[in-house]
Amino acid sequence: MLKVKDDLNMSVFSAADYDDHEQVVFFSDQDTGLKAIVAIHSTVLGPAVGGCRMWNYPTEQDAIDDVLRLSKGMSLKNAMADLGLGGGKSVIIGDPRTDKTPELFKAFGRYIDRLGGHYITAEDVGIEVDDIQIVATQTKYVAGLETGDHPSGNPSPYTAHGVFYGIKAAVRHRLGKKDLGGLTVLVQGLGHVGYNLCRELHEAGAKLVVADINQGNVDRVTSEFAARAVGPEAIFEQPGDVFAPCALGAVLDDHTVLKLKVPVIAGSANNQLKRDHNGEELRRLGILYAPDYIINAGGIIQVANEVHGRDTDVDEGMKKVEEIYGTLMEVFDEADKEGKATNQIADTIAGRRIEAARASK
Ligand code: NAD
Repeated sequence: MLKVKDDLNMSVFSAADYDDHEQVVFFSDQDTGLKAIVAIHSTVLGPAVGGCRMWNYPTEQDAIDDVLRLSKGMSLKNAMADLGLGGGKSVIIGDPRTDKTPELFKAFGRYIDRLGGHYITAEDVGIEVDDIQIVATQTKYVAGLETGDHPSGNPSPYTAHGVFYGIKAAVRHRLGKKDLGGLTVLVQGLGHVGYNLCRELHEAGAKLVVADINQGNVDRVTSEFAARAVGPEAIFEQPGDVFAPCALGAVLDDHTVLKLKVPVIAGSANNQLKRDHNGEELRRLGILYAPDYIINAGGIIQVANEVHGRDTDVDEGMKKVEEIYGTLMEVFDEADKEGKATNQIADTIAGRRIEAARASK
């Protein structure tokens, strides 16, 4: 009996990543095979907004851990970008290449609708605009659409543009260079964000070294942007100026940070640091880390326009995203002044904003 209690405590409220979530909901639909989890970390600043990820998780616990870490990250990201939104995220357990059906996404939409607007979903890894359009047939609590009153479209090009400006900020701060011409950027993950980022970097004259586990994505980038491909493990130890993680999270751990031969890390992946102390380790190694939830906020900045019912054209949306440059510069300067890791400074600023809003309620 005691054993069961301990196990429950281990996996829910006392789990390291649970961290005071307001609500975690498990959805299961027998007819379509849908198994989904929605994590709402905070609605203090507004409705919880964050994308849906579809992934073939090795275990259910992996899915729970992922959604909890991602949703907390959304609270910090939305607070840092001052969007008037809380943080949440959802995951669908399944293989995005083989398990998608219209019925599955309709069931997901019906379940999201039950949450009554406390959580608003959008695209993330494994989810396409077409999938989200199906979800939108069942609920209005969805964004990142190409139709509707204020469609914000696919967030990925905006995210990539924000990362491009974030790389410029980090290079300016760490290397004192104003542009990226001639610099070598290592891009890990060549999906929606990675591909668009490679395009912008190539146009800016950067040299690209790339890796992906999907050979088709590698071929596209090597042929279109004169990139040099290396294996998924080898990317960590390539010499260069910037490492841009644009695949999955937790890639910067005790082991990988020691392999790096770059002075800057700046990429789109969520939760790049396996644990917070890896940020301090990077600082100690003299590697400037652009906090993930600041540099990758471009997509959510654009999605926020849709959620708040604002019309924006592409140029306006992209311009707004470029403010990421200034936000990062402030965090880099503050980190230098305080002698602290950049992720620690970012967490402090974002956490303060959420606490101030909570206190004023
Ligand atoms: P995506 O699924 O389109 O692309 C991810 C790519 O990473 C795929 O090509 C995949 O094959 C590759 N990959 C997976 N494991 C890998 C490995 N071990 N080594 C190399 N490549 C690997 O996803 P995306 O939308 O481009 O998002 C990329 C990252 O950015 C994710 O972490 C996502 O959460 C984050 N992010 C995305 C957005 C957005 O607007 N799409 C916004 C914020 C954050």
